[in-house]
Amino acid sequence: QSTVRRAARSLGLSNQPEKKVYAVNDLSLTINKGEVLGLVGESGCGKSTAGRMIAGLLPPTSGEIAFEGKPVDSSQPSRHLETQMVFQNPYASLNPRLRVDQLISEAALYHKLVEKRDVPSFVAALLKQVGLDASYASRYPHQFSGGQRQRIAIARALSLNPKFVVCDEAVSALDVSVQAQVLNLFMDLRESKELTYLFISHNLAVVEYIADRVAIMYLGRVVELADTQAIFTSPNHPYTQALIADAPRLQVKMVEHRPVQGELPSPLNPPSGCTFHPRCPRAMPRCASERPMLRKVAEGHFSACHLNDLS
Ligand code: SF4
Ligand code: MG
Repeated sequence: QSTVRRAARSLGLSNQPEKKVYAVNDLSLTINKGEVLGLVGESGCGKSTAGRMIAGLLPPTSGEIAFEGKPVDSSQPSRHLETQMVFQNPYASLNPRLRVDQLISEAALYHKLVEKRDVPSFVAALLKQVGLDASYASRYPHQFSGGQRQRIAIARALSLNPKFVVCDEAVSALDVSVQAQVLNLFMDLRESKELTYLFISHNLAVVEYIADRVAIMYLGRVVELADTQAIFTSPNHPYTQALIADAPRLQVKMVEHRPVQGELPSPLNPPSGCTFHPRCPRAMPRCASERPMLRKVAEGHFSACHLNDLS
């Protein structure tokens, strides 16, 4: 019960505590070591909730999350070392009263990954890794630009030596010119630190740039999963097709746009059958009653649409 409520709260539905809301349903994803898996969908589709669950911050009501083959226990503090999250808003995630060296070393000191006397060199090395000058260590967050603040947030995430980083709209609040720089930093760190990413974004251009594979989410479910190139050149699902047809290609767009006709239905009262059917230009009678399952349409390419039964 409480998990359902927590999931619901993250969708802003806490005023309806009695109703069961599943922000995420039947989610089954494998993220391979070293890859960047993009998770795409409109605002409110459950991608942030999925990200928190995958990061181990939110236990699923049922099912299991495993990391390197071992089940994840979200109540275990050590769990939070190997997986870190980077959020959209570096303004909100950095305590304005703390200096950069304090911000970056706080968690590592707590987890005894660094000794107090080694903090200056520890911080300097992390600042260097994210492309910032070591002299910034004694400054405060308000003295930095948005991009620099996001670099500080990334340095803080790296301070715990994670293997897996969940980025939730991590470049969405940044100026367009800065987005590419921070994306390139993520790519560099992936190599130098052997990181694996779940990269959550509503922005297709960002995901096309950074992801190896892409999962498309609609109302709490993955409706399509494929290599990035396949998603962009031969999308199977009508929802993905609509997203891509509408996307400003090769141009990073900042505003959250509504690419598909009609509003995203409320997760409190999802449509029957294929939850996309009220908005789907290719809906058939069957779509209103029968839920399509995710199934293989090509090698490594999965889609949940009844149209695949016709071909
Ligand atoms: Fe459209 Fe039907 Fe496919 Fe759903 S199952 S995406 S409604 S055609
Ligand atoms: Mg979100």
